[in-house]
Amino acid sequence: MARYTGAVCRLCRREGEKLFLKGERCYTDKCGLQRRAYAPGQHGQGRKKLSEYGLQLREKQKARRYYGVLESQFAKYFEMANKKSGVTGDNLLFILESRLDNVIYRLGFGTSRPESRQLVRHGHFTVNGKKVNIPSYLVKVGDVIAIKEESKSSEKIKSVIETTSSRVVPKWLDLDNNTLTGKVVAVPERDDIDLPLEEHLIVELYSK
Ligand code: SF4
Repeated sequence: MARYTGAVCRLCRREGEKLFLKGERCYTDKCGLQRRAYAPGQHGQGRKKLSEYGLQLREKQKARRYYGVLESQFAKYFEMANKKSGVTGDNLLFILESRLDNVIYRLGFGTSRPESRQLVRHGHFTVNGKKVNIPSYLVKVGDVIAIKEESKSSEKIKSVIETTSSRVVPKWLDLDNNTLTGKVVAVPERDDIDLPLEEHLIVELYSK
């Protein structure tokens, strides 16, 4: 399935949640969901009671859209999560959080996950000293993520760092503001993931 290229605010309106896909705009009163807090489309303002399956499907779509993951990749992550010991739903979220584009966003090196993905693709970051331009690269404890030396002077990167300077970095990451380097110091715990997701619904969906 191809990546969605339409208006991203429609995705938030569909899910009824802020997915924070547009950077700083999401924190202003220009937010599309704040302006039109109903689902897009002709019947968007009608009330609709979802079936159990509908609820599970919406939760999976919401998670996919938060992290910008395609359907097939998401199914692979679920398989990986299911094979690991522990709680499958938690495992799934930890895998999603470990994606390099998400880590870049969490460190404040991107204003949104979509922007972070693009910056990774443009080759602005290193992991353990080597350039990595794969947004789905999964980081692990001990990895050091840095902005490439040449990229530190880029106007784009400077503007991102200025914009995100007040962002709180989760405790499983350690950010050094002076060197613009982040280290993965722990596996994230469920409480570290501030997204309103009911992952057990996703597990139920895939367990049918
Ligand atoms: Fe979603 Fe951001 Fe658009 Fe608001 S501005 S609807 S949070 S993408």
